[in-house]
Parts: sequence; C-alpha cells; structure tokens
Amino acid sequence: MKKLILSSILVAAFGLVSCQTPVTPTKEESTTSNKKPMDTSYKKTDEEWKKILTPDQYYVLRQKGTESPGTGEYLEHKEKGFYTCGGCGTELFSNEEKFDSHCGWPSFDGEVGGGDRVLKIKDFSHGMIRTEIVCAKCGGHLGHLFDDGPTSSGLRYCVNSLSLGFKPADKK
Ligand SMILES: [Zn+2]
Repeated sequence: MKKLILSSILVAAFGLVSCQTPVTPTKEESTTSNKKPMDTSYKKTDEEWKKILTPDQYYVLRQKGTESPGTGEYLEHKEKGFYTCGGCGTELFSNEEKFDSHCGWPSFDGEVGGGDRVLKIKDFSHGMIRTEIVCAKCGGHLGHLFDDGPTSSGLRYCVNSLSLGFKPADKK
C-alpha cells in the first residue's frame, strides 16, 4: 500500500513538473517574442547620430535605408572575426555564420548570442511582408531576415554593410 502511495506521489510530482515546463516557442513565435528584456541603453538623438555616423551610415542605420546591392564593403569579406553594429559596436554576427548568398548583401545564417541582440520586427513597407532586423541595443536598422537560407538554420540575415563594423578575431 505504501508503495502505491509513494508511486502516486511521484506521478503527481512528475506531472506538476512537466506542467511547469515552458512550452518551446515555435520558430514563428520566437522571432517576435523576446525572453530577456532587451538592452536599449544605447540612445542618442538624431543630431548626435549625425555627428558619429557618415551620411550613408545615417541613411541606412537611422532612416532604414538600403545600400545598393553588390556595393557593400563586407559583401566579399572573408576574414575571421565579428561583425559589429555600425551604431553601437555590439557584436552581432561572426564570420562562421557568414555565407555567400549571391543576393548582393552580406548574409548570415545565424547571429551571435541567444537571439536577443537582433530584434525581429514585422515590416509591411513597399507592399511586402518582411521581417526587419534591428540592433536591440541602439535600434539601428540592419536589414531583413528571410527563411529561405540554404544552411540547416534555414535563415538568411540579409544585412547592409553600412550597418556593420568589423572586429578581427586576433585583435584583443
Ligand atoms: Zn547597435
């Protein structure tokens, strides 16, 4: 009898634990929700940004512009290191995630960290439904995220070179 009570307690306890286990969000949900509160500490006025950024960088990062395809500094770039946000310097992508997508902009199949450095925002501009990608820290526009990537992640982060900086791996 004791054994039966014990096992039913165990079953109850296990049931409780499994009920508390958070449901893993689907791919679609995880692009719109953020587990951690985002770090938006890097704030500047438009006037301050204009002083820090070149006019081209300002147009892309702060006014959501797009550089002409095939022209970006990092399109054919293959050095080892981290691609940083051109606005605040946060490491966003690494050379290991970079792949040649032939789309005219630097492309990555993933991002540095747990997915909280790049915000994903639904973008309905230009008569299309796309996912805009933005630096979580400073709000700088990076480019767009597509789900037609050729690697196992299925993702293609299409990023303007003007939105990026680069930190070589061997530079301390
Ligand atoms: Zn940034």
